[in-house]
Amino acid sequence: MKALVKLRSEPGLWMQDVPEPEIGINDVLIKVEKTGICGTDLHIYNWDAWARKTIPVPMVVGHEFVGEIVAVGSNVHDFYAGEIVSGEGHVVCGHCRNCLAGRRHLCADTKGIGVNRTGAFAEYISVPQTNVWHHAPGIDHEVASIFDPFGNAVHTALSFDLLGEDILITGAGPIGCMAAAVVKHAGARYVVVTDVNPWRLELARSMGATRVVDVRTQSIAEVQKELGMKEGFDVGLEMSGNAQAFQDMLAAMCHGGKIAMLGIPSQPIAIDWNTVIFNMLTIKGIYGREMYETWYKMTVMLQGGLDISKVITHRYPAADFEQGFAVMNSGESGKVILDWTS
Ligand code: NAD
Ligand code: ZN
Repeated sequence: MKALVKLRSEPGLWMQDVPEPEIGINDVLIKVEKTGICGTDLHIYNWDAWARKTIPVPMVVGHEFVGEIVAVGSNVHDFYAGEIVSGEGHVVCGHCRNCLAGRRHLCADTKGIGVNRTGAFAEYISVPQTNVWHHAPGIDHEVASIFDPFGNAVHTALSFDLLGEDILITGAGPIGCMAAAVVKHAGARYVVVTDVNPWRLELARSMGATRVVDVRTQSIAEVQKELGMKEGFDVGLEMSGNAQAFQDMLAAMCHGGKIAMLGIPSQPIAIDWNTVIFNMLTIKGIYGREMYETWYKMTVMLQGGLDISKVITHRYPAADFEQGFAVMNSGESGKVILDWTS
């Protein structure tokens, strides 16, 4: 079968013929229909310091996908050929205290599909049955293919009470834009989104942001004043990984404000801890999705009218993957989808 492989320890990915994956007794074999390119895949393509120390070579990469079940192992139940599914990208150990208590997203021994084990940029993928999510009828397949990053947005956004609250989102990448739509759907009042990329700010606006702020030319404080906000933001969603963005967020929160941090900084960030202490801020780190509460919430929000389809801005046949990675690298994209059936 065809698969996108990190073949050599250098920038790039290579479309290769590789053997179809074998399934163990607890595994589900899925014929991949569509995949999303994640920022992580871009790190692997560009072969930055994180990728060099994390990714085994050679390996099939990719973890955002939707496809159809074609075979199941002898110990698998409740999954059948023909069903449309996605895979949760974090494979947990199942034995640690958190796993046993049902807090699987807190497993300390998580393995990432397409990061630590064979990925989804391929015609077929084998996934443990514990990681397969049945899509509800009617879920659009393109949207289904990005449940993984949509889940990052939902997990982060729903960490704190949103109803009637004012929300600051730093970073209008695909996840920040989806989060803007989610918090609006969940009943937030003002949703202010910051970035330094006008193209992406426009995308955030189209997905429901009340105001977008290019922090190179306008301060968050100015926007708060224009909106008539007397106090700071109630909830902050850090979705850039940028030090300045996080520092701006800390300064813009109300006393007692709550921050959920998804963005991954490339190096340690120094902050004014006095702001955290005297303003009594709560800061919560977010990794992945809650298994499977986040997946449930994603499904029911879509069924309840949430529309995140605008975040998908580019589509290519898998053979044209180079174009997909190029547009991701340009910064002028939301989610980019590769189709494995054409
Ligand atoms: P992305 O890189 O596409 O988006 C980040 C955005 O932040 C970019 O649009 C960038 O222009 C913007 N930015 C840069 N400087 C800024 C500043 N000073 N103020 C405001 N915005 C600024 O990333 P994404 O795919 O949308 O993911 C968002 C973040 O979440 C990334 O840091 C990613 O690594 C991280 N992530 C974390 C998890 C997790 O499980 N914790 C999962 C997926 C992604
Ligand atoms: Zn575990």
